[in-house]
Amino acid sequence: MSVDASSVDVAIVGGGAAGLSAALVLGRARRRVVVFDAGEPRNAAAPHSYGFLGHDGISGAELLRRGRAEVESYGVGMVGARVLDIVPAAGDRFVVTTAAGTWDARAIVLATGLTDTLPAISGLSEIWGIDAAECPYCHGWEVRDRAIGVVGTTDKLPRIAALLTQWSRDVMLISSAAAAFTPEERRRLDAAGVRVMPKDVRRFATERGRLRAVVLADGEEIVRDAIFVAMPTHAASDLAGRLCDVDASGFAIADPEGRTSHTGIWAVGNATDRIAKLVHSAAAGSRAAASINQDLFEMDLQAAMASA
Ligand SMILES: Cc1cc2nc3c(=O)[nH]c(=O)nc-3n(C[C@H](O)[C@H](O)[C@H](O)COP(=O)(O)OP(=O)(O)OC[C@H]3O[C@@H](n4cnc5c(N)ncnc54)[C@H](O)[C@@H]3O)c2cc1C
Repeated sequence: MSVDASSVDVAIVGGGAAGLSAALVLGRARRRVVVFDAGEPRNAAAPHSYGFLGHDGISGAELLRRGRAEVESYGVGMVGARVLDIVPAAGDRFVVTTAAGTWDARAIVLATGLTDTLPAISGLSEIWGIDAAECPYCHGWEVRDRAIGVVGTTDKLPRIAALLTQWSRDVMLISSAAAAFTPEERRRLDAAGVRVMPKDVRRFATERGRLRAVVLADGEEIVRDAIFVAMPTHAASDLAGRLCDVDASGFAIADPEGRTSHTGIWAVGNATDRIAKLVHSAAAGSRAAASINQDLFEMDLQAAMASA
């Protein structure tokens, strides 16, 4: 399918692991598919991605480059543009508007990902994805037995700090939020062996782009090799909020197949599941694709039977 074919079976918004996996299954099912991608995957700052069987350690950019080549080989159109709006139209179709033009589709996949709300600490964006991460399962192994700091603002902070002792005995939770921890949270951190520094972080001191130390508000420096950050997340796009039921952070509410409250609209990956990693996101896209194909097939079969 050429990318300027404007009428498709399925329009997929987001070309990350979730959206491309949906496109792969739908392309192989001989559906007319277009993927719109603004090109800002969540893990863009990380040079390597871990935990995806068969691809452990691959760069995120290379994974997506391979994915795009695979879907294009089945005729899926890739459009490097942000979707600005999606409007339900006559005949159970949707009109999809981008800066590059307008498409119409029978079904929509929202695979738009999420945004990590990094705390405003100087130096963090410089080391984000390199010496600072959010998920122990993705990046814990790389910093095993090293000096780990855990910072952040959400109530996940003590839980993540305790869990990290699975990877290192030298874990320090650094946050003034610790002053408000419950006695139970304190007991858990003590039992896990986490040291607690109940002070604010002023900045991360770096050398040639690598973390050297955490600098506290009072000027004290704590040497750390790696940082994990517990922070809020929210949906990266407001499209779901305009089309279907969402939760308080804008994540689409979807069933295990990715169906949302709006017939014809599916949501997959981090657009609906804030804890989904690459492999979960890919699996969700794949599963939704089979569900969409089945729905479209049934619709066409019913129409053929009605007109026979
Ligand atoms: C620093 C870091 C490191 C990570 N490391 C790992 C790891 O090692 N292993 C692992 O399994 N997971 C890792 N993750 C998690 C991983 O990034 C996510 O699980 C994964 O990106 C989710 O895939 P997705 O397709 O749902 O969303 P994304 O990959 O974020 O893709 C969403 C895409 O949709 C596009 N988009 C959004 N809105 C629109 C719009 N309106 N129109 C068009 N396009 C749009 C975006 O530009 C983006 O390209 C990491 C995350 C971070 C933050």
